[in-house]
Amino acid sequence: MRLILMGPPGAGKGTQATFVAQHFGIPAISTGDIFRANVGQGTPLGLEAQTFMDAGEYVPDEVTNKMVRNRIAESDATEGFLLDGYPRTTAQVAELDQMVEATGHQIDAAVVLTVNEEELVQRLLQRAQTDGRADDTEDVIRHRQTVYAEQTEPLIGVYRERGLLVEVDGMGDVDDVTARIFAALNDLPRS
Ligand code: AMP
Repeated sequence: MRLILMGPPGAGKGTQATFVAQHFGIPAISTGDIFRANVGQGTPLGLEAQTFMDAGEYVPDEVTNKMVRNRIAESDATEGFLLDGYPRTTAQVAELDQMVEATGHQIDAAVVLTVNEEELVQRLLQRAQTDGRADDTEDVIRHRQTVYAEQTEPLIGVYRERGLLVEVDGMGDVDDVTARIFAALNDLPRS
């Protein structure tokens, strides 16, 4: 299984990524988590990424692409993976296509979680209180929604055209959303 999990910031990607990846026995690869770990450890990659993250901007494609390329090449990802938060730009889509094609495989599905915008902001403000993430202030939260709308939302159309898009209602209980994702993936035509 090679899956992409998409959706705006606050849609619950991280939570769902863990469940779905566990179910299929594949690693959940979260670019946001990898960046945060690097920031936490003060690595050169972390130092490079931090300013962008704190401002709610995307880390430059070259940096992000290289990081994903290295992560996908690790042995636990040879049978598949779930990408959480990547690709987010058109250039990242092209790069991912190359990475996957080079291994003779293909992406099986791009799951997009849909959630209404006001609920998103509320969820993120809630998370700001519990997790204390540096990029969860209201201004940055709103900016991240704008960046998503401008740079990432158009990718939904790309995967729809390829017949890979699986749209899932991300509103409501975490368990219900998980059940919807599994139901939608089981309905996928098998190649
Ligand atoms: P996330 O945890 O997925 O919300 O990501 C947190 C932050 O990490 C984002 O706001 C970006 O600054 C950065 N980031 C994560 N994934 C990507 C990506 N695919 N491309 C560029 N920046 C990213």
